[in-house]
Amino acid sequence: MANLPVQTSSARPGSFRLSKSKYLSGLQCHKRLYLEIHEPTLATVPDEQTQAILDMGTEVGELARQRFPGGVLVTADHRHPTEALRQTAALLADPAVPAIFEGAFEHEHVLVRVDILQRVESTAGATDAWRLIEVKSSSRTKDVHVSDLAIQAHVLRGVGLRLDGTWLMHVNTQYVYPGGPLDVTQLFALQDLSGQVAAQQPDVLPHLVRMKAMLQAPVPPAIEPGSHCHKPYDCPFWDHCTHAKPARWIYHLPGHQHMIERLAQQGIDTIDAIPRHVTLSSVQRRVKDNVEWVDARLQAALSSVRYPVHHLDFETFMPAIPKFPMTRPYQTIPTQWSNHVETEEGQIRHEAYLCRDATDPREEFATTLLASLGREGSVCVYSDYERTVLQRLADALPSLRAELLQAIARLWDLLTIVKTHYYHPAFAGSFSIKTVLPALVPDLSYEDLDIREGGTAARAYQQMAFEETDWVEKERLREALLKYCERDTLAMVAVRKALSAKVSSAGSP
Ligand code: SF4
Repeated sequence: MANLPVQTSSARPGSFRLSKSKYLSGLQCHKRLYLEIHEPTLATVPDEQTQAILDMGTEVGELARQRFPGGVLVTADHRHPTEALRQTAALLADPAVPAIFEGAFEHEHVLVRVDILQRVESTAGATDAWRLIEVKSSSRTKDVHVSDLAIQAHVLRGVGLRLDGTWLMHVNTQYVYPGGPLDVTQLFALQDLSGQVAAQQPDVLPHLVRMKAMLQAPVPPAIEPGSHCHKPYDCPFWDHCTHAKPARWIYHLPGHQHMIERLAQQGIDTIDAIPRHVTLSSVQRRVKDNVEWVDARLQAALSSVRYPVHHLDFETFMPAIPKFPMTRPYQTIPTQWSNHVETEEGQIRHEAYLCRDATDPREEFATTLLASLGREGSVCVYSDYERTVLQRLADALPSLRAELLQAIARLWDLLTIVKTHYYHPAFAGSFSIKTVLPALVPDLSYEDLDIREGGTAARAYQQMAFEETDWVEKERLREALLKYCERDTLAMVAVRKALSAKVSSAGSP
């Protein structure tokens, strides 16, 4: 007989039901797993950026199924595991089904949903062979993907399935979308990880035994937060685990995590407790000194700007599934710009562009931008990002290439000037404009805005341009996007002015 009864096996009484995501949480940190099971409300609610990544994963997963024509989806969701197990059993038993999507399997109280299970061999009277395929929206294989496949393979073998191989299907960033229907055979890359998964297989059961034993304890394990909290994923209990840490906690020191980890292991709990003999980078030294610092060369650096000064910021999005012809998965697509222009006399005007529909914005973005920048003055940016975007636009738009390269030649990076010539204790080691602005210009911030950071802006743009949303909501999103990008460039004007004031006050008698 083939597969009908194999998808479940007995659960150990008193043990907790784990899923593959819980298993991966347990591999990252036992305390994380404990809190997810016993105290889930202590987790920080995912922000919009995290939600956007999850949504992207769902979109990619659904598209990946098209590569397996005739495959059948198990429709019962995670709230109905018994029904999902029943549907899966029926599909396994039907030799006409070439692939199962979201199949449910349970072995010793570990329940997994398998993205794609492909029937690779069906022989009357013998056990069918199956290929386990995990779909990821990432562009390459990561260590955690092997662990992900290993727990699934453990469960599938546990219920008696004959596995032909364990594969990862991820987005192929080399695919250039020519327009028209997507070619899913090109959009996705399949990678055979059977060897790596087999090597990890013996570790799965011991890990599960330790996790289940740990979960029986009345309190969570005493695990201190550290760099493991962000690998392979940011832990949602970070705020809970760190709320009682001192303001100058050692993990707030910027720089290489292994160096900070080493200091923490030596019992150094705060930045102030770092011994003098420890070699620190210049930024780390400033964070440790914790005093305002104005470099004598700041004035010369600020004076190198040429008027009219264009304060420029871009917003972009990076769709996993290409939306426009001749673009690749995850290609950066610029969608809006903001330009605050300051004349030598101190007059300021604002210009902006935002693509408002689902068309390819690149050419219109570039032509409107070039018109706004004109041919004179510095183009003040905050980071190298605008340079990268302009360079890619120049590569994609041959007719505008020369002008775009001229704009690149006028870039003047305010971030480099702040980093090299100024420090304020309120920076706490961060030179992000979101940190620098309130430290230097306390009455100007992002707090009054609906959108306050780039990830949320990218998500809002996708909602406005591509999703079914009523016009009132579209208009709200458009306004919020324009205000956010405008604030970024106004922030640059204000930071330049505040730095000039520092120079003046340092030079006053
Ligand atoms: S924040 Fe760190 S220590 Fe706390 S549960 Fe998460 S991974 Fe574990």
